[in-house]
Amino acid sequence: MPSRALLAVLTLVVAVAGCDRIGDWMIARTLRRVDHAILESPDLTVVLCGTGSPIADRTRAGACTAVIAGGQLILVDVGPGSWETVDLANLPTEALSAILLTHFHSDHIGDLGEAVTQSWIAGRSRPLDVYGPPGTSEVVTGFRLAYTADVGYRILHHGEQYMPRAAAIPVAHDVPLGDDPAASAVVFDRNGLKVTMFRVDHRPVEPAVGYRFDYAGRSVVVSGDTKRSASLIQHAQGADLLIHEALQPAMMARVSGVARGLGRDRLAKMAGDTIGYHTSPADAATVARDARVHHLVLTHLVPPPNNFLTRRLFTRGMGGIFSGETTLGEDGMRFTLAPKS
Ligand SMILES: [Zn+2]
Ligand SMILES: [Zn+2]
Repeated sequence: MPSRALLAVLTLVVAVAGCDRIGDWMIARTLRRVDHAILESPDLTVVLCGTGSPIADRTRAGACTAVIAGGQLILVDVGPGSWETVDLANLPTEALSAILLTHFHSDHIGDLGEAVTQSWIAGRSRPLDVYGPPGTSEVVTGFRLAYTADVGYRILHHGEQYMPRAAAIPVAHDVPLGDDPAASAVVFDRNGLKVTMFRVDHRPVEPAVGYRFDYAGRSVVVSGDTKRSASLIQHAQGADLLIHEALQPAMMARVSGVARGLGRDRLAKMAGDTIGYHTSPADAATVARDARVHHLVLTHLVPPPNNFLTRRLFTRGMGGIFSGETTLGEDGMRFTLAPKS
């Protein structure tokens, strides 16, 4: 018996030691997953980090699109839950160089504090630039104040050598825009990447903007929230990739109708009110056609189409309008555009 007990103990020790080694291997594998090489890539890369809307959805974070080019990682909007998706996409978060806001609805700015804080923890050593239309500085100031105590805790805990205070403070840039409904402004032109902001139509929300990225002969346009917009068609001309918001009006009208039938009048009104200031999938297809883009990617999907039936209903009416490729966006999707000679 003693030898049997000893054998059992030895077996347990070997098993635990083995588990430790397997555990170490799994941790190392996870840590190695971060794609630092993407910063050296000659490509223009887009990762969807939030294809959802204010409607709760386990598979879709709030609005967020990552653009990687010229050694820069840029996020367009940082909706609730999107930072986790950025991290899960294995993007090099310490290299986050700018955040671009399209407008100030909560589903586009909710994770601003997380993006600033978590990229600082990951090793970002310079202040983070946050660009947007006029009003951006007010939003950034609010988040900065809300995170004042957190910044202090982390510096005390890890030391300023690792957590430089200057890098914890986001720097707001209000980009002035003219009153013209098709007004545009160059946000920056750096390392070959030119970023242009342009007005879109999300009234009563004003200002609301979209962004165009040009790099190495390739181009990507992010619509922001908008109705069918002539300005967007103008500024998206010839783009390789158009990331366009979409709301399916027939589905939302049914949501509103069913809610009213159940006596949920408030929900019925809210659902009905959303229809007027977004773009239907069919209209997004006409925008893609009129702008002569190559690939249309739908995002900010309302309501979220998460099974075969709802995907069919969502895209109803799009057929025969746009002859290029169309993709219904999902969180984590990646698009790579090689340089055009
Ligand atoms: Zn909005
Ligand atoms: Zn939105």
